[in-house]
Amino acid sequence: METARILVVDDEQGMQRLIRQRFRKRIKAQELTFLFAANGLEALQVIKKEADIDVIITDINMPEMDGLSLLRNIAETEAEYKTIVVSAFGDIPNIRAAMNQGAFDFLTKPIDFYDLDTTIQKALGLIRKIQSRKQELEQLKDQLFYQAYHDPLTDLYNRSWFFERVSTLLERPQSELYGVLFIDLDRFKLINDSLGHLSGDKLLKLVSARMREQLQNTGKIARFGGDEFIILLENVPSKKVVCEFADRLKQILDIPFYIEDYEVFIGASIGIIIGSKEYTKPEELLRDADIAMYSAKSQGRGGYQVFDPAMQVSAVETLQLQNDLRRALESDDLYLLYQPIVSLLTGHVDGFEVLTRWRHPQRGAISPITFIPIAEEAGLIIPLGLWVLNAVCDRLSQAQIRADVWRGITINVNVSALQLCQSDLAEKMARVLNKFEISATQIKLEITESCLLDQYDVQMSTLRSLKNLGFKICIDDFGTGYSSLSRLHEFPIDTLKIDRYFIREMTSGSQFRVETVRMIITLAHTLGMDVVAEGVETAEQLQQLQALSCDAIQGYLFSKPVSHEIADSILRNRNTLF
Ligand code: C2E
Ligand code: CA
Ligand code: CA
Repeated sequence: METARILVVDDEQGMQRLIRQRFRKRIKAQELTFLFAANGLEALQVIKKEADIDVIITDINMPEMDGLSLLRNIAETEAEYKTIVVSAFGDIPNIRAAMNQGAFDFLTKPIDFYDLDTTIQKALGLIRKIQSRKQELEQLKDQLFYQAYHDPLTDLYNRSWFFERVSTLLERPQSELYGVLFIDLDRFKLINDSLGHLSGDKLLKLVSARMREQLQNTGKIARFGGDEFIILLENVPSKKVVCEFADRLKQILDIPFYIEDYEVFIGASIGIIIGSKEYTKPEELLRDADIAMYSAKSQGRGGYQVFDPAMQVSAVETLQLQNDLRRALESDDLYLLYQPIVSLLTGHVDGFEVLTRWRHPQRGAISPITFIPIAEEAGLIIPLGLWVLNAVCDRLSQAQIRADVWRGITINVNVSALQLCQSDLAEKMARVLNKFEISATQIKLEITESCLLDQYDVQMSTLRSLKNLGFKICIDDFGTGYSSLSRLHEFPIDTLKIDRYFIREMTSGSQFRVETVRMIITLAHTLGMDVVAEGVETAEQLQQLQALSCDAIQGYLFSKPVSHEIADSILRNRNTLF
């Protein structure tokens, strides 16, 4: 045990000698060390010089600074001294005052040394208890700190640690080269699902240990969650060194693991970032590491890829989605919804716009806003367009056989500009119509205004062929494209659909917007076209459009896009807008 240091403050000459004599054995055994001061002021000087004093024994009546003042001064310091006050017998008010100042105990003079010894031991016991409590607290703090930055399962660093570490790394002004490896285990999910979570956990521990062994002291490794790990190599000499490390890592992860008598091949895909000054935020770095990892995965599992800015996640995703979409066209994953178009003359539904939906087996519903551009890029828009027309004609022919209400109902089908570039589009579409014995006059093709700019000639001639077949033509999203109003008359157009942007703005209190809509409607009417407003959501918008002599509306106010069964019941029930 450490020596306890005791400061004795007393102006009495014999005190020092007396104490040395009485505590001789203890001093010799180095259990106690005594220091002396003749008054409060001296005591404060000693305290200042000697940091680790445990107990102070002080007299009250002393010159220069008395015991009570000393106590007050001590109370102002942070240290937790235990002070024992010694005073002449009967000095009760002073003793009370001392206790109120935080004295630990008091003794009366003349000193009973047996009593003093007991009191010193009591004080030291308390001090030790406090110290050990403090130590426990320190340990707890360390433990909490450790937990905050480590993964409990694998004992590797965790995500928070990585973020902090990388943040400091990126803040450094110098441009040292570093490498980040983002590691995703290829078959973890499969193994976890088939062998169970306990085996999955064991596997993660084994994988972690193997990677840590490979890493030694050359870098730091963190588990990022699930089966994702990240390795940080700071201050690397070259890109080559990082790639060589990735290569070795890949090799050791290809060696099978043994779990419950199974030989398990896990494999890993690794995305690599080699950076110096490119990144300022950990998030950016992670995003690119993730992209590189996905690229590695898509190149065949078990490889690694160094991030390259040309490598966009959307590119990888698009590729995947293109393949999925190709499959969807052959399966049942695409379907149609019908959104009613209501005449403002009668209040009845006189048509539907069909909107395609994709129920992706893994990703769930994907919006046409996402998959139409993908279809266009993959050259799938032609088969997709034909699939839609087929599905529409099929449904329409069945509906017409069953119910009269479907006769005379126009179905709007969206057509991509790319489809119009196909010179044989009209021919292909005619074949579909014939197959189902549907008249082209029942179909209205919606073409986005901005499409009619590039490839103008081909599109124009396709449009004329379609028109000649009897299809009705509608300009979609009018007002958002750049085709000038002046050229509108060149197109064989029946209907103009005002984009929902204008409809929304119309009721925002802007008189300018109302005037724009009025102008569009007037112009369309002059050119012999009728006008549909899309995205009508409120009664106020409806009123305005009625006042502006708009012909029909489409929007959530009347109905969202619905299934063909609901479309059917809307017609049968003769639901009306007003
Ligand atoms: P669009 O032709 O402008 O279709 C109208 C879109 O507005 C639909 O979105 C519809 O659900 C939504 N909508 C309808 N009423 C309201 C309303 O009151 N408020 C608001 N905020 N929105 C409303 P959706 O179904 O997501 O379609 C998005 C776009 O995808 C369509 O825009 C169309 O350009 C394209 N699309 C959909 N199906 C096909 C298709 O079969 N072929 C082609 N080429 N394009 C399609
Ligand atoms: Ca449309
Ligand atoms: Ca539209």
